Amino acid sequence: MITKREFYINGAWVAPEVARDCPVIDPSTEEVCAVISLGGEADTDAAVAAAKAALPGWSATPPAERRRVVEGILEQYQLRKEEMAKAISLEMGAPIDMARDDQAECLPWHLKNFLRAFDHVEWIRPLGPHAPDTMIALEPIGVVGLITPWNWPMNQVTLKVIPALLAGCTCVLKPSEEAPLSSMLFAEFCHDAGVPAGVFNLVNGDGAGVGTRLSSHPDVEMISFTGSTRAGRAISVAAAQTLKRVTLELGGKGANLVFADADDRAVERGVRHLMNNSGQSCNAPSRMLVERSYYDRAVEIAAEVASSIKVAPASEPGKQIGPVVNKRQWDQIQGYIQKGIDEGARLVAGGLGLPEGMNKGFYVRPTVFADVVPGMTIEREEIFGPVLCMIPFETEAEAVRIANDTPYGLTNYVQSQDGARRNRLARQLRAGMVEMNGKSRGAGAPFGGVKASGRAREGGAWGIEEFLEVKAISGWDVAAE
Ligand code: NAD
Repeated sequence: MITKREFYINGAWVAPEVARDCPVIDPSTEEVCAVISLGGEADTDAAVAAAKAALPGWSATPPAERRRVVEGILEQYQLRKEEMAKAISLEMGAPIDMARDDQAECLPWHLKNFLRAFDHVEWIRPLGPHAPDTMIALEPIGVVGLITPWNWPMNQVTLKVIPALLAGCTCVLKPSEEAPLSSMLFAEFCHDAGVPAGVFNLVNGDGAGVGTRLSSHPDVEMISFTGSTRAGRAISVAAAQTLKRVTLELGGKGANLVFADADDRAVERGVRHLMNNSGQSCNAPSRMLVERSYYDRAVEIAAEVASSIKVAPASEPGKQIGPVVNKRQWDQIQGYIQKGIDEGARLVAGGLGLPEGMNKGFYVRPTVFADVVPGMTIEREEIFGPVLCMIPFETEAEAVRIANDTPYGLTNYVQSQDGARRNRLARQLRAGMVEMNGKSRGAGAPFGGVKASGRAREGGAWGIEEFLEVKAISGWDVAAE
């Protein structure tokens, strides 16, 4: 068993002020796989103080040098990526092959995209020929607090820490207490890459403790948060007194609009996309809206595909889905499946209880509900598990109405061979992202939502901008430069 009680503060691993053990549970076995500490106010304050002390030096470090340090983090990852995949797989249950190929690989993917965008940042530039002595300067916002969830742990840590460092900010990361091991390994990467002391700090803790203290701390200029809409609200309230910048990446209830002219693989692709990571992705296409003339066939395909998906422990190689992260999540998903049955949706694959032959681990049967009616609980609320809702529609206008009638607005999807229709729908769907015909967003495209999905934009140039302030300067002496 792994025991890692220390926090990474000011370039060293330090014991918590007050010992408060927290077990990390392996969701595949329900056994304790690690023990960490939950920090408190004093630990948070120490990390913020270290970040504050390091800010003048780091923000004045030339961009090229900041880039070199960040490249060092990438080198550390290349040396130790297998450890990273194993840590993620153990702490949150991603199957090991998927942890290797997708979860861990988020780090180099986003990091390289940030570096590409970073090379084009104009740190200071003239406003325009009409105002020759006015300059626009970009400056780091200051000390930032970064709070991340457990579902794609390295994805979210990279999307926050790397742009913060590139922008010249210093930071305190509070990873999810459910999945802290990958973040502690990331802290080792930062250490070994020579990130100067105090520039990156990590304190483990829960939302009520470290999360709340960071969100209300007077020396923290910004909180970048990914997680539930509930916690996003609490953080906004806690941050209000100190008028911090708060950027939020929250939940989703993505609609996947499948038209009768969709390609042959569209339904299968949609089912597999939702089931990936055991349904625990904020951008999961969890509502499949299907044009009526194709609906019965689509339900058949979806049921077949879901029934063929293997569920197995995270340590097994292969293309299975693993468990969901913890008992609370498992209970919540079971509650939604029961609600779907009670409210009259038609269960065509999966259902309640553990998959056949399993008696331990937080495994959920890949589940499909057909004939879901807009307004049912499973259609409104984010389930965050391998549960697909299928809804028929008659017209394009009806599909758009159903898709947009949700508090969320993260990613919507369209499947149709009709290019004009796709382009029309891309503009009508109320979401931060629209992905069509299985094409994923290009490298460095911004990730983020609207409405209750939060309004952050992470990744690439937009992701760096989140950590910058814009300063307007007049009376600039161009000749003196
Ligand atoms: P969560 O909100 O419970 O926890 C996320 C993080 O916030 C954890 O580190 C937690 O300790 C912390 N936290 C909780 N309450 C807090 C508070 N009051 N103040 C400060 N910090 C607090 O979410 P989760 O269960 O870990 O993750 C699942 C949720 O995250 C889902 O709703 C999912 O959709 C969402 N999510 C969104 C995105 C996105 O980019 N939009 C990405 C991944 C996950």
